[in-house]
Amino acid sequence: MGTLNDFRMETRAWLEENCPESMRGPAAVGEEDMIGGGKKQVYKNPDAKVWLDRMAARGWTAPMWPTEYGGGGLSKDEYLILQDEMIRLNARSPIGGMGFSMIGPTLLDYGTEEQKREHLPKIVSGEIRWCQGYSEPGAGSDLAGLQTKCEDAGDYFLVNGQKIWTSGAQYADWIFTLVRTDPQAPKHEGISFVLIDMDQPGVTVRPIKLISGSSPFCETFFDNARVEKQNLVGQINRGWTVGKRLLQHERSSISGLNSGGRRGRYDGMRGLTDVAKEYVGLADGKLADATLRGEILVNEMNQRAFGLTQQRAMAESESGGTPTFATSFFKYYGSETGKTRLELQLKAMGTQSLGWEGDMFSDEEKTLTRTWLRSKSSTIAGGSSEIQLNIVAKRVLGLPD
Ligand SMILES: Cc1cc2nc3c(=O)[nH]c(=O)nc-3n(C[C@H](O)[C@H](O)[C@H](O)COP(=O)(O)OP(=O)(O)OC[C@H]3O[C@@H](n4cnc5c(N)ncnc54)[C@H](O)[C@@H]3O)c2cc1C
Repeated sequence: MGTLNDFRMETRAWLEENCPESMRGPAAVGEEDMIGGGKKQVYKNPDAKVWLDRMAARGWTAPMWPTEYGGGGLSKDEYLILQDEMIRLNARSPIGGMGFSMIGPTLLDYGTEEQKREHLPKIVSGEIRWCQGYSEPGAGSDLAGLQTKCEDAGDYFLVNGQKIWTSGAQYADWIFTLVRTDPQAPKHEGISFVLIDMDQPGVTVRPIKLISGSSPFCETFFDNARVEKQNLVGQINRGWTVGKRLLQHERSSISGLNSGGRRGRYDGMRGLTDVAKEYVGLADGKLADATLRGEILVNEMNQRAFGLTQQRAMAESESGGTPTFATSFFKYYGSETGKTRLELQLKAMGTQSLGWEGDMFSDEEKTLTRTWLRSKSSTIAGGSSEIQLNIVAKRVLGLPD
């Protein structure tokens, strides 16, 4: 215990000294809310780069990855202490994205030694940013129906086809992709998992513009894109296994499970009850609207219970890694409860939660509006709620197909 306590004290002191003031608290409206790294990253606030470099030098951007790949080499208990101490200081995550939450952990599980040494340190340092090439126009929930073709061209592979909803593709340097290598085999058995360098003429990215004006995701086209043979992860035609594991890591991250429920999408936001008290007001010391009070109470209790269940799952997992089929339960419950939370916030705030710009709305209100709208996609991205329920029914509860 003494050792862990020492670690806590050292970590606290280091964070206090090294986390720049402007990296404490949530990002301001308009500021890019998450640093994703990569060659195209623009650091509007120079402190963001300072913070990233300092954390990366200790391997604390990927605290539990082995030190030989640039990670922090922390044990699960040390990692949770680091999380606690960052929360205590209200320190922002220095970097995030699919390198950390998806392809990195998957390479640790299935990559060759050469692949780990090549790719993991560049994720840790923020040098390379990754995106996910899974969904296609005809293959979303039915992911194994994907058609993007990958052919053996001797020393290398050639990839042709189209992906869609590729989040952040316009900022990414590399894309991890599921491709069809055997069109004759049963659909799950003819798929391979490849890593593609996007900086080549065979890859075209077209951002999809939303009504808000932003383009969070893109169409990605492969036109004789070249893939070196060493960028095949796992065996040829056995990519479905690798791809499924990556989805478990993705769902673990979306639900906050990989941080034991400590950090999540609502970090830095005020609690629902506090917001409701301000906008609805109090009567006899209680929230003035009794119906809303009941609904908020249920949601707060559900969120609390969910957080405790996440902590228990993390405590029970030996390595702190959490990828299993049960991850689907956490993804389902976390995104549905989060969506309800933001609907209740809308009820409490009324028209003040519909602000997009202008002086009539505070920065917090504008952020809440965006968060509420964005929450609608949370039960689709990473596999829809219906698909999570199917997985839980089949793989966790063992119910018939
Ligand atoms: C914000 C966001 C970011 C995304 N980022 C990426 C990304 O970076 N990379 C990437 O590859 N993809 C990404 N996606 C795509 C995402 O994975 C798909 O949208 C999702 O898997 C659903 O596929 P679909 O859109 O084709 O819908 P469909 O599969 O057509 O589903 C339509 C509806 O039918 C339901 N449905 C379908 N099949 C079943 C079934 N068997 N049982 C019950 N109900 C079913 C679904 O639940 C849904 O309600 C992103 C999506 C969003 C919203």
